[in-house]
Amino acid sequence: MVELKNVNKHFGALHVLQNINLEVTKGEVVVVIGPSGSGKSTLCRAINRLETIDTGEILIDGKRLPSEGKGLAALRADVGMVFQSFNLFAHKSILENVTLGPVKVKKMKPDAAKDLAMGLLERVGVANQAQKLPAQLSGGQQQRVAIARALAMKPKVMLFDEPTSALDPEMINEVLDTMVELAREGMTMIVITHEMGFARKAADRVIFMADGQIVEQATPEEFFTNPRSERAKDFLGKIL
Ligand code: ADP
Ligand code: MG
Repeated sequence: MVELKNVNKHFGALHVLQNINLEVTKGEVVVVIGPSGSGKSTLCRAINRLETIDTGEILIDGKRLPSEGKGLAALRADVGMVFQSFNLFAHKSILENVTLGPVKVKKMKPDAAKDLAMGLLERVGVANQAQKLPAQLSGGQQQRVAIARALAMKPKVMLFDEPTSALDPEMINEVLDTMVELAREGMTMIVITHEMGFARKAADRVIFMADGQIVEQATPEEFFTNPRSERAKDFLGKIL
């Protein structure tokens, strides 16, 4: 579903993605973990073309990423993204936040988009908030709306970049639970998170990144109990 081949990216002199090779199969859940500054967000953003790459190839469902134009809009619809900061439209209602993409990008009829949105808001447990503005919701609720908004585009893969790190502790689980459910329903997911509970419950594979490289890949069980590289041991020693 997602394939990166020899992907390289520089920010000036900084080689932020160093020959990254990664394949994520349909329905697979991959957790990306690693120290701050190791290139995790850049990797995620490259997959969604929010960031260009210097060399290499990225394919989504077998199709090479276009660099611009109509193809890019279609690609963005295939790849849903949820950020640390929820990025909801502040002056639109929760319902409008979810219907906007399907109506504008997918040319869905407003009534159909509303049905779709209400179904998704129901699924993430915030249907009763549909008429409110984002600021009237808790952080955990807003993040669940952001997930519903991404799902409304019927993506083939969902990317999550530290979706719970801006949340108060008591709200983290409600968002993680929504993500676990999505994983169980078979969504292909790439999740940057340090939440090991989530990794253990939902991940098929953990990828450890450091200094722009994939240093280690293993099942969550293997990785957390028996990391092989010194970098991973050192990192886990700090976060556990
Ligand atoms: P992570 O998500 O693992 O913390 P990032 O992908 O955000 O890492 O960043 C990797 C490195 O690239 C960091 O050193 C960061 O400062 C740098 N970086 C990220 N975005 C930019 C940018 N737009 N311009 C220059 N440097 C950047
Ligand atoms: Mg990051």
